[in-house]
Amino acid sequence: MNLPELANPRILEQPIYQPGKPIEQVAREHGFDVGEVCKLASNENPWGSSPLAMEAGRQALQAIFLYPEGSGLALREKLAQIHGLDANQFILGNGSNEIIELLGHVFLQPGDEVVVGEHAFVVYKLVALLMGAKVVEVEMPRLTHDLNLMWQSITDRTKLVFLPSPNNPTGTANTAQEIDSFVRSLPEHVVFCLDEAYAEYLEEPFDLRPYAREGRKVLGMRTFSKIYGLAGLRIGYGYGSPEMIGLLQQARQPFNANSVAQACAIGALGDSDWVETCRRRNRAGLEQIRVGCSAIGLEVVPSQANFLLVKVGDGKAVFEKLLARGIITRPMSQALSEFLRISIGTEEQNERVLLALEQILQQDSTDT
Ligand SMILES: *Cc1c(COP(=O)(O)O)cnc(C)c1O
Repeated sequence: MNLPELANPRILEQPIYQPGKPIEQVAREHGFDVGEVCKLASNENPWGSSPLAMEAGRQALQAIFLYPEGSGLALREKLAQIHGLDANQFILGNGSNEIIELLGHVFLQPGDEVVVGEHAFVVYKLVALLMGAKVVEVEMPRLTHDLNLMWQSITDRTKLVFLPSPNNPTGTANTAQEIDSFVRSLPEHVVFCLDEAYAEYLEEPFDLRPYAREGRKVLGMRTFSKIYGLAGLRIGYGYGSPEMIGLLQQARQPFNANSVAQACAIGALGDSDWVETCRRRNRAGLEQIRVGCSAIGLEVVPSQANFLLVKVGDGKAVFEKLLARGIITRPMSQALSEFLRISIGTEEQNERVLLALEQILQQDSTDT
C-alpha cells in the first residue's frame, strides 16, 4: 500500500490555498534586493504595526520559555471590556482562520451543507470540504453577497452560513439592514458566521454584539492581521453566546494562541489612535488607486476594505508583468480571471503600482 492510499481521501482532493508570493522569493527570482520589492498581495497593513503592540511584544519575549495562558484570559478580558460582553464570550485563534476550522470541527459532519457566496473568502470552502460537508455556492450578482439568494439556498441540511462583510477578494459589504433581516430570518438549525476581518475599515460596521447577547446562533470573527498589522503573529478571535464559545473552546488545541501574539494584541487594542490613522490613510489610498485606475482606463470594483479588484483583462499576465517590475499583487482564480486584487499600500507604493500598470497597458497596445 502506498502512502496516499492510507490517507483520508478528502486530503487527496483538498484544493490548495494560494497565498500571496513572499517578498524574498520574488527578489530572488527577478533579481531585486528585498528592499526594492513591494508587496500588495495579502492585505497587510502597509504602515506596519502599532508601536504599543511592538513594545508589548518585546516585553513578552522575556517569558517565551513559559507556555502561554491557554485561553488567553488577559486578552479576552480586554476584548470583553471593549465590546461590552463577558470574557467567556470570546475565543482566541491562531489567526481567525483557525476559528473557521474550529467551526468546522464543532458543527460539520459529512452530508451537512455550508452556504457561501461564489466569490467569498475561500477558506470556508476549504474547511467545509475537509469535514466532508457539501459546499453550496450562491451567485453574487455585481460581485456582492445577495442575502435573499443565500436565504433561498438554505435547506434542512444547512448547518453553517458564512458572510464576510466586507468580503475578500471583492471588497464589497452588505448593509446593516440587510444583515439584520437575514440573521433574524434564519431557521433554528443554522449557525450564522459573520467574518469581520475588514470591519475596522468600515465607517459604520454592522454590530453583531446584540445578537450574541440575545443568545442567537451567531459567531462574529475578527483578526489582528489586517488593520492591527500583526499578520505574522497569527492571532484572531471569535465572539458569540457563552454556549457557542464553550463549544468552540472544546475543539481547540490547549495552547493555540501564542504568548507574544496575545501580548501584542493587547498592546494593539490600546492604541486606537493608530487604528484611526490607518483607517484614514487607507481611505485616501483607496481613492488614489480608484482615481489613478480610472485615469488610465481601468475599471475597479468599489471597495470598502484595504484592497480592491482591478479589471485588467488577463489577470495572470498582468500579475507576471508586475512581478517583473518588483510588485507583488494577487491573481484571481478562473471565475475572476479578468481581475487582479491589489492591496492598498503607502502613497508611494500606490503611485508605483499605478505607474507600472500604465506602462504595461501602453506596452500591450504597441505590441498589438
Ligand atoms: C485575512 C482574512 C481573514 C483573517 O485571516 P487570519 O487568519 O486572521 O490572518 C479572515 N477572513 C477574511 C475574509 C480575510 O480576508
